[in-house]
Formats: sequence, C-alpha cells, structure tokens
Amino acid sequence: MLVSNLRKSVIKPINIGTTRRLYCSSSSTTTKQRRSDGNTFDVAIVGGGIVGVATARELLMRNPNLSLVVLEQESEIGMQQSSHNSGVIHSGIYYKPGARARLCTQGCRLMYEYLERNKLPYERCGKLIVATTEEEIAKLEMIFKRGVDNGVEGLEMLDSEGIKRIEPHVSGLRAIYSPNTGITDFGLVAKQLGKDVQSLGGTIKLNFKADEFDYNQQSNTITIKSGSGAITGDVVAKFLITCTGLYSDRVAVKSYGAEQPKIVPFRDIYEWLMESGLPKLALKHWRRGVDEFVRDVSPAAFLKTLTPYMPSLKVDQIEYAGSGVRAQALGSDGEIVEDFVFDQPPNKPILHVRNSPSPSATASLAIAKEIANLSESKIKQL
Ligand SMILES: Cc1cc2nc3c(=O)[nH]c(=O)nc-3n(C[C@H](O)[C@H](O)[C@H](O)COP(=O)(O)OP(=O)(O)OC[C@H]3O[C@@H](n4cnc5c(N)ncnc54)[C@H](O)[C@@H]3O)c2cc1C
Repeated sequence: MLVSNLRKSVIKPINIGTTRRLYCSSSSTTTKQRRSDGNTFDVAIVGGGIVGVATARELLMRNPNLSLVVLEQESEIGMQQSSHNSGVIHSGIYYKPGARARLCTQGCRLMYEYLERNKLPYERCGKLIVATTEEEIAKLEMIFKRGVDNGVEGLEMLDSEGIKRIEPHVSGLRAIYSPNTGITDFGLVAKQLGKDVQSLGGTIKLNFKADEFDYNQQSNTITIKSGSGAITGDVVAKFLITCTGLYSDRVAVKSYGAEQPKIVPFRDIYEWLMESGLPKLALKHWRRGVDEFVRDVSPAAFLKTLTPYMPSLKVDQIEYAGSGVRAQALGSDGEIVEDFVFDQPPNKPILHVRNSPSPSATASLAIAKEIANLSESKIKQL
C-alpha cells in the first residue's frame, strides 16, 4: 500500500534565530517570582526534544511560580529525533485505540493551532493511502474504520476517479483521503517551544548530559550530576521528568526506573518525488535494525515497489530527502511496544517517559498535557 503526503509546494523555513544559544539562560523579562538559586529547581526535565520542551511549557503555563529547568546534552534544542523526521503532521488514522490514537488526534489539532499562532511554516496538504488490489481494499476499509473510530475528521474513501482528481499521477482502485494530514518542520517547532519556556520564566541548560541521579530521602530531592557533557556540575530538583527519546531506557534505569521496556534504534528513510525541481510527493519506507545504519537505499529498488501506484515514475525523479533514527521500545517478550509508556517509580518524585513513539512530534502538545495531568498532584505539593 502506498502512503503519500501530498506536497504542493516547498516549505519556506522562517528564521527564528536558531543560531542563538540558549545555554543556561533564564528569561530576564519575567516578573514572576522564582524559587531557584541557579542550581536548585522545583522541576527538572531531562531531554530538550520536542516532548521535553512542550512538557516544560505546559507545566509553566499551569504553574506560573514553578522554578523549572530543562537539561539537554546537545548544544541546541531538538537536535535528535525532533529535527530528523519526515515532518508529517499525522491525523491519527492508523493507530489502534489507546493513548497513541487519542494523543495523536488531539495533538494534531493543537499543533495546527500552535503553528498558526506562532507563524511557523506548515502546509495542510492532505494524504492518500492507496490500494491497488482487492486484497488491499479490505485492509484500506479497516484503516478507514479505525480512523473514523479515532475521531479523525474529514476522511473520505475515493474510487479511482477520485484519486486522479486529487493526484493525477497516482493510480489505484481505492484510496483513503485524509485532508488534515500536513507537513511542517518539527525542529523549528521544538526551538519555538524552547523560547516559550524561557519567556515563561523557565531555564534551559544546554550541553548538560545528565549522567547520574541521586535520590535523597530526607530532603525528598534528586541530585542530577553531569560529569561527561561540556557542562559539569549538579542540579537539584524536587521533581524529575525524563523525556530522553533514544536514551529513555538508559536514563530511566539510572534514575530508579524499571529495566523494561528497552529501546532499539531503527533507521528510517524518507524520500521525495521531484517534479520540475519541487518536491511533489513525500514517499516513505523504512528498514529495521542497527546494521542498516550505514547502508543507503537503492532508488531502483524503491521505484519497483512504487510502479503499481505511479506507472509514469522515473528513477531520477526520486530524491533522497533524509533519514533519522527512531527510538523503538521493545518489551521483555521482544515484541514492539506500540503505545506510550509513562513510568513512575514508587515513592520517588520521578516520572519517566519510557516510550514516546511516532507520531510524538505531532502529538507533543497533547503528550505535554498528559504528563502535566499525571504529575499534577505531586507538583501541587512542591
Ligand atoms: C525518521 C523518523 C521519522 C519520523 N517521522 C515523524 C513524523 O512524520 N511525524 C511525527 O509526528 N513524528 C515522527 N517521528 C517521531 C518523532 O520525531 C519523535 O517521536 C519525537 O521527535 C520524539 O521527541 P522526543 O522529545 O521524545 O525525543 P528526541 O527528539 O529524541 O529528544 C530527546 C532529547 O533528550 C536528550 N537526551 C538524551 N539523554 C540525555 C541525557 N542523559 N542528558 C541530557 N539530555 C539527554 C537528547 O539529546 C534529545 O535532544 C519520526 C521519527 C523518526 C526517527
């Protein structure tokens, strides 16, 4: 089955000052009272990806007097999965009922509002999921029903003429049309969220690799030590949240979390179909396993799989658009963990985001609300 996100034009990135370092800065404009001496905070969030900064922003919006720090090992916000992804704002069609479907559908709505409010580039370009055989039509109908059950708005089932009306180059027997699927640059979104955190009075410490965690029962605080990053030293927090993506298993185990689930990295590749020099369709396939890291994909092999859907396609129209490493959680049975996993070690003021699968970039603003709800009672006691 072919999945294509319809790109009608190139996104023009807006310069929001990505070269500006956020290191150790807290907003100077805020008038709110902070209870931090520079190293001691009410809340520390380890991980400055889109999930970490969205969570920081949500907590500060709900609790304006909170002192909060985001600790990020890289030199900028959102440098890992959050800026190496396909940039699709997913509508939530595919996912089985559960947190993933709920947070994606809610997050998709919130993301469009956020992009609009902050004047960030995006395009609500729509998506076609195409079936070319009778067997695929049965699968398509299942996906359509799932999308409707998940509350995805505006879904349509198209026949072959309907497909041509939307995308003349694509052939198929039937297709689901999802008008609310879109594209954006989640790296820019993460950086804007980081700016929001600062203007809400939060602190962002870049180049801070959280290496060790030490819980003090007497003071009910956690000391977070950085020995190997560019910045060394200790940060003390009354409540710890970890949102560390590819490292979420290792960081959680170091900070009183369970051994499972484990994270396995998967390389994921996305390509564009070029038309007159402009990306026309975003095409996607993915390969599994650490051993794939250094290998490239053959455009000729990819073309073969696409020919039933796009007979006129030529190999020189397929362009490599990028790749990223996906954090895939595996349970103790070796099975893929598909839904979100939030883990709160007993009797400790800690919450771990153990699995934040795709489409967590789309869902980030909804995930932030979920984490804020889960931590509300503990944060109220601070
Ligand atoms: C190839 C690919 C394509 C994807 N396509 C899409 C898509 O189209 N749409 C969509 O919605 N989602 C997509 N996703 C998923 C999405 O990008 C991720 O789910 C999302 O970015 C996760 O955000 P995060 O903040 O949890 O993780 P990350 O962005 O990985 O952030 C985690 C952060 O934690 C930091 N960190 C880790 N350990 C430490 C430590 N010890 N101390 C300090 N900092 C630490 C890291 O440096 C990193 O910045 C895709 C993912 C990949 C890989």
